[in-house]
Amino acid sequence: MARDPRAAVILGFPHFLDFLQKLELIQKRRYGGVMSDRIELHRQLREAGLRVTAPRVAVLEILHAHPHSTADFVASGVREHLGGVSTQTVYDVLRTCADRGLLRRIEPAGSPVRYETRTADNHHHLICRRCGEIIDIDCVVGDSPCLVPDRDHGYRIDEAEVIFWGACPACRDVH
Ligand SMILES: [Zn+2]
Ligand SMILES: [Zn+2]
Ligand SMILES: [Zn+2]
Repeated sequence: MARDPRAAVILGFPHFLDFLQKLELIQKRRYGGVMSDRIELHRQLREAGLRVTAPRVAVLEILHAHPHSTADFVASGVREHLGGVSTQTVYDVLRTCADRGLLRRIEPAGSPVRYETRTADNHHHLICRRCGEIIDIDCVVGDSPCLVPDRDHGYRIDEAEVIFWGACPACRDVH
C-alpha cells in the first residue's frame, strides 16, 4: 500500500504535527487574532440576545485584556477607544452583560465591584491584601457549590464563594 509521504514525515518526526499546530496558532494570533476575537464577541452578544453595539464590544474587549477591572477602569478604556461615551452608558453595558451571563461580577471586601469575561467555570480568586492584585484559581471541583456546609438549614445552596487572601510575592517581604 502506498503511503502518504506526509505520513512518513510525521512518523519519522512525531513532534512535527505539534510544530505545525503551534505554527498555525502563532499565525492565527499574529494575523487573524484580533479580527476573529471580535467576530467571536459579536457571536456571544447575539447569542445572549443583545444587539452588537460599539460600547458593548469595547467593554468586553477591555475586560478580556484586563480581567477583574473596576467599572471606572473600563469606562476610561472605552473612552480611549471610542471617545465620548458616558460613564452611565458603560455602567449600563456592564449591568446588562452581567445579567445575560457574559460577565461575572466579583465583590471582594473593601474593593469596588470588579468584572471579568471568564464566566463559564466556577473559578475562585486569590487576592493580595496589600496591592489588591487578583489571580484566577481553578476550582478543584469545578461545579458550584464546591463546598457544602455541615447543615443546610433547608436551603437549596447554589454557591460557595471562595476567596483566598494573602500577600503576593512582591508585597510579602515588605514591612
Ligand atoms: Zn501585592
Ligand atoms: Zn477571575
Ligand atoms: Zn471550588
